[in-house]
Amino acid sequence: MSLLSIIVPCYNEEESLDTFYQTVQATLKPLKMDIEYIFVDDGSKDGTLLKLKELHKADPQVHYISFSRNFGKEAAVFAGLRESRGDAAVVLDADLQHPPSVILEMAALWEEGYEVIEGKKSSRGRESFFHKLMAATFYKMLSGFMKMDMNDSSDYKFMDRKVVDVLCSLRERNTFFRALSFWTGFRTTTIDYEVQDRVAGTTKWSSVALVRYACNNLISFTNAPLYMIVVVGLLFFLIGLILTIDAVVDHYMGVAVDGYPTLLVLLVIATGCIMFSIGIVGIYIAKIYDEIKERPQYIIREKE
Ligand code: UDP
Ligand code: MG
Repeated sequence: MSLLSIIVPCYNEEESLDTFYQTVQATLKPLKMDIEYIFVDDGSKDGTLLKLKELHKADPQVHYISFSRNFGKEAAVFAGLRESRGDAAVVLDADLQHPPSVILEMAALWEEGYEVIEGKKSSRGRESFFHKLMAATFYKMLSGFMKMDMNDSSDYKFMDRKVVDVLCSLRERNTFFRALSFWTGFRTTTIDYEVQDRVAGTTKWSSVALVRYACNNLISFTNAPLYMIVVVGLLFFLIGLILTIDAVVDHYMGVAVDGYPTLLVLLVIATGCIMFSIGIVGIYIAKIYDEIKERPQYIIREKE
């Protein structure tokens, strides 16, 4: 029988874990695959690790990895993928917002030969207006840059061993799991699911963290902002050229222009653009700096 690895990133999820484990166990009864759980405790400050140890004691299929501190969900997902031994692996949230019943359908599609089965949010569940707006803008930009439809995509993914191996072999540390599985180019299909309410606790994302997450992923996935700078720069050069010609012509025709406001506006806009551009270039340099330091994406304190 083939083995399915269930990878669960957990950050302060002590209240969700029992329900999560029981629900998944019950839901996957009909599945004709062996199951191993890989819970990744992402430096939780509550009793998550203790809960995981209890689960491990009760069920030898349950494994856990515990980070030395909070490294973020991306790191947790990749640590889980690296530890997994399954013929297929599925990543899902500990809060049961990703309904486990979908795994049965995913497994069926996997049997049919699909290598990446990606959960697509058919509704976004309960989220603030700001959150929805941010998500919509972010995915629009990303889809445009990447020429793939990333709208409403999620981290709820079922992957074949081949895909997991490719992802684990990537050497970049600034990973973006959601888009990378697309990027691998394996046979992909999507499956709709309704985002459920959290079983317990609250979301671990603040608004600032979300904006940072979106910017980081855009930068780590595309160089488009750099090209945008070039285009804007070119545009300014053209406008400058036209204005120069205009000024020269005016001069020879003897029409005196009071150019102070024009100068002021141009100066302010140009300075703004230059500073913005330097900022973008700076962010890329920072990313390069981060990558060349070759620090690990996460540090494991203990695992079982
Ligand atoms: N998570 C994590 N590390 C973090 C933040 C979140 O491992 O730094 C986990 C969290 O425990 C959950 C999943 O990632 O299993 C999704 O987090 P959350 O439910 O807070 O996000 P949302 O569903 O609101 O996007
Ligand atoms: Mg959640």
